[in-house]
Amino acid sequence: MGDTAQPARLTVLSGPSGVGKSTVAARVRDAHPEVWLSVSATTRRPRTGETDGVHYSFVSPERFARMVERGELLEWAEFAGNYYGTPRRAVEERLAAGVPVLLEIELQGARQVRAAMPDALLVFLAPPSREELIRRLVGRGTEAPEVIARRLETAEVELAAQSEFDVVLVNEDVEEVSRRLVALMGMPTA
Ligand code: ADP
Ligand code: 5GP
Repeated sequence: MGDTAQPARLTVLSGPSGVGKSTVAARVRDAHPEVWLSVSATTRRPRTGETDGVHYSFVSPERFARMVERGELLEWAEFAGNYYGTPRRAVEERLAAGVPVLLEIELQGARQVRAAMPDALLVFLAPPSREELIRRLVGRGTEAPEVIARRLETAEVELAAQSEFDVVLVNEDVEEVSRRLVALMGMPTA
């Protein structure tokens, strides 16, 4: 395309809870600090080790509702009893500045991004098997059994929708899948 610079790409990483999205996104960031990982707003309570403003902006349901009303979210969804959304301005500013942006969000949000930004690359991270997904979700040890059950129910819906995505990557090995994601984002993988 001549000598015009490629616009920075918005990449969405989606997939069932416990498949390894956060792990892969963190690995991509380690290898490519120039990637900007969006910080979502959520009404969920912080897990041990999560920091406000780093992993999420932890907000009240009232604050979240105000963000929705004011159109401040690029996309948002309810997931397993909590609300999650992507602050619009930060994403738009990064993209305008040429910074590659990665969103780690669930299925309903991925669909909204597809509708709002058809050029976005939608990547679905799939587990090697359902048994392994359960092992990872349980093994993470962050949710109560009833919350795990709810997330696994939702996982069935998400797994059934993987053909809507541009690419499906099976998360066998974090290194390998992170390298493939980096390549898809158009960055050097050396
Ligand atoms: P998600 O963000 O999709 O909910 P996490 O990144 O929190 O998932 O990963 C869930 C659990 O699975 C974590 O304990 C993580 O260390 C583990 N995990 C992630 N990727 C792999 C992998 N390729 N092989 C084995 N375990 C993994
Ligand atoms: P968790 O509670 O495990 O951090 O996240 C639950 C689910 O919400 C995961 O699938 C995660 O990708 C998704 N999620 C996190 N942030 C957002 C967001 O801003 N929007 C949407 N739609 N989903 C999100």
